[in-house]
Amino acid sequence: MSEPTSPTARSVLITGGSRGIGRGLAQRFAAAGHKVATTSRSGEAPEGVLGIACDITDAGQVDAAFTEIEQAHGPVEILVANAGITRDTLLLRMSDEDWDAVIATNLTGAFRVVKRATRAMMRQRFGRVVLISSVVGLLGSAGQVNYAASKSGLVGLARSLTRELGGRGVTANVVAPGFIETDMTAELSEEQVKAYLAQIPTGRLGTIDDVADTVAWLTGDGAGYVSGAVIPVDGGLGMGH
Ligand code: NDP
Repeated sequence: MSEPTSPTARSVLITGGSRGIGRGLAQRFAAAGHKVATTSRSGEAPEGVLGIACDITDAGQVDAAFTEIEQAHGPVEILVANAGITRDTLLLRMSDEDWDAVIATNLTGAFRVVKRATRAMMRQRFGRVVLISSVVGLLGSAGQVNYAASKSGLVGLARSLTRELGGRGVTANVVAPGFIETDMTAELSEEQVKAYLAQIPTGRLGTIDDVADTVAWLTGDGAGYVSGAVIPVDGGLGMGH
């Protein structure tokens, strides 16, 4: 009987890895023995991870970050587009600036890193792209038209990518977290948290590990036949939408 082979050490990029979900994902991939890089405006990264200061709303900074990663770790094989922001307010009060900032980071930023990563993935005939969306992108949310639009846009992006690159060994999927305990959700009031909890069938908030477990599976060698999927990690909040 042959020994079980150890999983391949991949070149992994997590955008928005300085804190929250992205940081947890970077730690998870690094602990599994992968070569991990993260980008964020601050450039901070957990130990053992290559941290690069890069604003994903700037095409030149994104290109330079990829060049640095390619030199250090080789072409990116696993890309998790995770960086995201909110600028919440009701539609009638939302400025063009609030709209533009969220779309530029959450949607155009994802497009930009996906475009830069996939050429090498196609050449290598292997790639895993995961876009971190949100339950809000599927259910909508009062006070978040910009955020919800950016997050549902990621579904169209991943599914079109699946159609374009499916035959080249590249998968593209969306992970749609529900309410995960991070800095982003720490901004919510106690009342808002209570209201969410009342709608979550599992009766608890999500953890960064809940998201990391799903992303780890989705980017593994065994998930090569899963593409164009939207995978909720939301305790049933969105009921599969
Ligand atoms: P955090 O606010 O904790 O972290 C966001 C990360 O994105 C940081 O590392 C931040 O770093 C980075 N970032 C923000 N803007 C930019 C930019 N222009 N360029 C580069 N990096 C940027 O968020 P979470 O960890 O909570 O969320 C991560 C993702 O998960 C987001 O896309 C969010 O929408 C999504 N999500 C979160 C949920 C939750 O409950 N927490 C629920 C559903 C989805 P820096 O500020 O240094 O640039």
